[in-house]
Amino acid sequence: MSQTQKVLDFVSEKWDREIVPQLTTYIKIPNKSPMFDPQWVEHGYMAEAMSLIESWVRDQPIAGMTVERIQLPGRTPLLFIEIPGKGDDVVLLYGHMDKQPEMVGWNVGLEPWKPVLSGDKLYGRGGADDGYATYASLTAIMALKNSGLDHARCVVLIEGCEESGSYDLPFYINHLADRIGTPSLVVCLDSGCGNYDQLWLTTSLRGLAGGTLRVRVLEEGVHSGDASGVVPSSFRVLRQLLDRIEDPLTGHMRIEPLYVDIPGERIEQAQEASHVLGTAIYDKFPFLPGMHPMGQDLTDLVLNRTWRPTLSVTGADGLPSLMDAGNVLRPQTSVKLSVRLPPTMDGETASRLLKEALEKDPPYGARLSSKWRNPPAAGRHRPPRPGCARASIRPRANILARVPQRWARAAPFRSWACCRNASRRHSSWSPVCSAPSPTPTDRMSSCIFRPARSSPRAWPMSSTNIT
Ligand SMILES: [Zn+2]
Repeated sequence: MSQTQKVLDFVSEKWDREIVPQLTTYIKIPNKSPMFDPQWVEHGYMAEAMSLIESWVRDQPIAGMTVERIQLPGRTPLLFIEIPGKGDDVVLLYGHMDKQPEMVGWNVGLEPWKPVLSGDKLYGRGGADDGYATYASLTAIMALKNSGLDHARCVVLIEGCEESGSYDLPFYINHLADRIGTPSLVVCLDSGCGNYDQLWLTTSLRGLAGGTLRVRVLEEGVHSGDASGVVPSSFRVLRQLLDRIEDPLTGHMRIEPLYVDIPGERIEQAQEASHVLGTAIYDKFPFLPGMHPMGQDLTDLVLNRTWRPTLSVTGADGLPSLMDAGNVLRPQTSVKLSVRLPPTMDGETASRLLKEALEKDPPYGARLSSKWRNPPAAGRHRPPRPGCARASIRPRANILARVPQRWARAAPFRSWACCRNASRRHSSWSPVCSAPSPTPTDRMSSCIFRPARSSPRAWPMSSTNIT
């Protein structure tokens, strides 16, 4: 039996027999991230989920493993696992166990806290993002041991507030800095990949400015038959305000300082990734028949979702449901805004610019208030390392993910660059970089890597991602 087959058999057996039942239980626990459950301590779901994971970890027969559940005062819990290995290197494996909120729009028969195993997919909230991380980390290490392969010392960090912006993580990194050491490799099991035929590296991550915008026009609701045409609709005022920051026809953000110069290396990597992936860049989304993506240029689409700012309206308030909506000119409309930012954009500056643009010169004297999350979630960008994409990285700096394709399944997906383990290749392609980003002047001295076309499982692709 080949070594690969042996590893595959070990992982498959353990995953199906032991880990799927664990994840099934995990999905039932509504351990929402603190931002979505301010009473998370009182509710106890976070502690329950952590106990589930911790107790499985402690049951694993890994020689020399130490497990510690740490909770600094006033902070979310963190699971810290150390596994001795050979040599001086340290590998840091990262994941999180807090969850996104319920959301709406589940298919019939599916719910966030109800695990449903259908075919080879397990549905429910949090299994892929990111409950699987602890199980995948330890199973990978056990698979090596089972095959008689050596590994470096491994440190596993599982945090509890990633979905809230990881605001507790720096405190734990500082707290544990001496015990962690200096990792040669960080495996972030909260990333994604372009396909499952290659290994992908995360090279950057967009930042996120999150805020709310509230528009008030009346003390109370009035009859729309009486007031419309006289009283300006709060919804129409809101539309005007949103148009200040985003072109409604193209999705282009109208605050130009939100754009950055995209490094030439990343543009080349986006070209390479789009060349490899083709229409899979957008085919993976469940478009309705007849719908098409925001552009036809594949490289532009990659750069749009990795290096350019975009606005999403993720929630609304002041609007009754369709069933309950009467002929009322409503007193106010509020929306929640999510603005993805280029990896190198300063989030606080972005939040300030957005707030200023939305609040200035209120149409009709409407009452406007725009509150922005402080601090915003910072983006990350791995500095270019000419000649090598396998460089080490410090945990507090940037993200480098080497996600085994098999376990990257169902994780969210970020932005990419394509990696090859050997030769330097100077692209003859011209940079594809449509407005508004300035065309880069540096035409790349660093290399990109890509797999040999004849060997799709050779060393591959890196990427810039979302979280
Ligand atoms: Zn995640």
